[in-house]
Amino acid sequence: MQAQTTDILICGGGIAGKAAALSLAQGGFDVMLLGARPAAALPAAGYAQRVYALNAASRQLLDALRVWPELPAGRIQRVDAMRVHADGAELGFTTADAPGDALAWIVESDAIEAALDLALRFERRARVVAAPATTIARSGGTAPWRIETADGDRIDTRLLVGADGQDSTVRDAAGIAVETRDYQQRGIVANFACARPHGGTAFQVFGNDGVIALLPLAPLAGTPMVSLVWSAPELLAQDLLALAPDALARRVTDLLPTLGAEPLGPLAAAGSAASWPLQRRLAGSAVGDGVVLVGDAAHRLHPLAGQGLNLGLQDVQMLARTLQQRRPGQPLDDPRLLRQYARSRAEQVLALATVTDGLARLYRARSYVPPGLRAWGLRLANAMPPVKQLLTRYASGLPYVA
Ligand SMILES: Cc1cc2nc3c(=O)[nH]c(=O)nc-3n(C[C@H](O)[C@H](O)[C@H](O)COP(=O)(O)OP(=O)(O)OC[C@H]3O[C@@H](n4cnc5c(N)ncnc54)[C@H](O)[C@@H]3O)c2cc1C
Repeated sequence: MQAQTTDILICGGGIAGKAAALSLAQGGFDVMLLGARPAAALPAAGYAQRVYALNAASRQLLDALRVWPELPAGRIQRVDAMRVHADGAELGFTTADAPGDALAWIVESDAIEAALDLALRFERRARVVAAPATTIARSGGTAPWRIETADGDRIDTRLLVGADGQDSTVRDAAGIAVETRDYQQRGIVANFACARPHGGTAFQVFGNDGVIALLPLAPLAGTPMVSLVWSAPELLAQDLLALAPDALARRVTDLLPTLGAEPLGPLAAAGSAASWPLQRRLAGSAVGDGVVLVGDAAHRLHPLAGQGLNLGLQDVQMLARTLQQRRPGQPLDDPRLLRQYARSRAEQVLALATVTDGLARLYRARSYVPPGLRAWGLRLANAMPPVKQLLTRYASGLPYVA
């Protein structure tokens, strides 16, 4: 067993944890990251199942960390337009509405993790450990937290960062309450080849079968590709997951007209589907005694707006900035400093949690708002460029990290 100390210990080696380790180490802090397994290799003949729509603020962070240039450029797809349908009405966005040069960028999860792994390998202030934390407890010394790992090591830390996902044990150890809402839906993802180019357009439809989105992927060997994200009610999700890949492709092809994406069809399967239960989980506070939460440990949202990871990356950006701007001699676990971080994150998290939850409820089968009224609202928003500019500005994340 090894006994070690570190200024900052990050528990959780997903994208939020790896980005936090890199950002804080580049900011001059000694950091240790637990639970960080190397990214899986990208499939040569297809796309990995998990892809993310990254917003402009996330891109800005990955650029600043010198991670963006390491992503495989040929596998990144810009989103230049978005068409949202519901109740026969349409709301459309283009880059003209957006503050950045694209509405979003679609990147595979494993590509982001691999680029973070590479950058962390050259960061001498960051110690990266694959073993997870097994025990998290307060210690009596100047370092208020003592963590034991599955390898039997013991680490004392001044500041403990919980980046350990929606079931965060750091959050539990710090006694931070969490509010959970089960949507009784599953998020199903699968990739398809299209018959014709998508033109960098993302399509989404809200209906009785849930929320269905098709995200554009970069062409593979000249073939245009899309990624499906279908937030389906549980029973329907079970039926969809029981389908063979070709049958799922036919099912989604049948839905293309409702998505306004008919010209893309017919779709052909490009791998199997995967799924996750959909929940909202909100921590009562982003900080505790000597503890900070980032990513899904602090906030797990419905994926209909594709903003969960973006929120986590914006947490990382603001955490690094808050700690760097502390007064000389101010300890890293000073409650005033931690509250400053929590305040900097509260507005964006609350806004997105409210909007995604509100939309999920507004469009469920037995909604409290009649479809005609919903369609009127969507058409009204579509006819108002300033409203669209406001929506894309907030979706870019930029106002919250400026
Ligand atoms: C269907 C779907 C589609 C989505 N699409 C998008 C999108 O387009 N854009 C977007 O921004 N977001 C999207 N999201 C949300 C996104 O997936 C999550 O917000 C993001 O993965 C959270 O990252 P994280 O690093 O905070 O947590 P996680 O990815 O859950 O990582 C947590 C890590 O902590 C580790 N860990 C757990 N316990 C311990 C321990 N005791 N010790 C050490 N390590 C531990 C885990 O092994 C894991 O590696 C989507 C979500 C779903 C379900």
